[in-house]
Amino acid sequence: MKKLFCSCTPKTSFDRCELTQGLLAKRCPSCAAALLAMDDYRQWRDRHFPEIPATEPAALPGQEEHSKAHFCPSCQHIMGRYRTGSAESFWLDYCPGCQLVWLDNGEWAELEKSGLALHLDTILSERWQRLIKERKTLSFRDALLEKRFDAETLTEIRRIKNWLDAHPKRKDILLYLAENR
Ligand SMILES: [Zn+2]
Ligand SMILES: [Zn+2]
Repeated sequence: MKKLFCSCTPKTSFDRCELTQGLLAKRCPSCAAALLAMDDYRQWRDRHFPEIPATEPAALPGQEEHSKAHFCPSCQHIMGRYRTGSAESFWLDYCPGCQLVWLDNGEWAELEKSGLALHLDTILSERWQRLIKERKTLSFRDALLEKRFDAETLTEIRRIKNWLDAHPKRKDILLYLAENR
């Protein structure tokens, strides 16, 4: 990899480092951000963990931090932001063109802690990002419902909904209800 400079202070270049045993990356000596090439990551992962268990985003994503976006130190374009889907909700910055992941200080440790360190390819996939978005919409909708109805009514609404969703004539029933409002 050519010499890359960090954006935290002018002219601070990334040094070689080991993110974890056998995983080479680059680290900024000033802000401790790390740059990880997906090629190096995949080699490390496939060598040490030939079998990776399936994973799902956390059921309830936590509060999201809003750190500023990063520019790719290699091509200077703005990096994409990807929700990790961990309970300790944070974003990964990734440049698809250069296949470089930017990890702020502590983010790799956070990935390891939440069992996502082996799942970078999954996190950066369209499917994973869509799943998290859907979960967020659902929990937002739940919060709205809880504001509008008392607990007893909510339980009843959910029971009826589950029954309806499983019913083969769901559409007809909904139509009937709508016609008889
Ligand atoms: Zn830096
Ligand atoms: Zn780039």
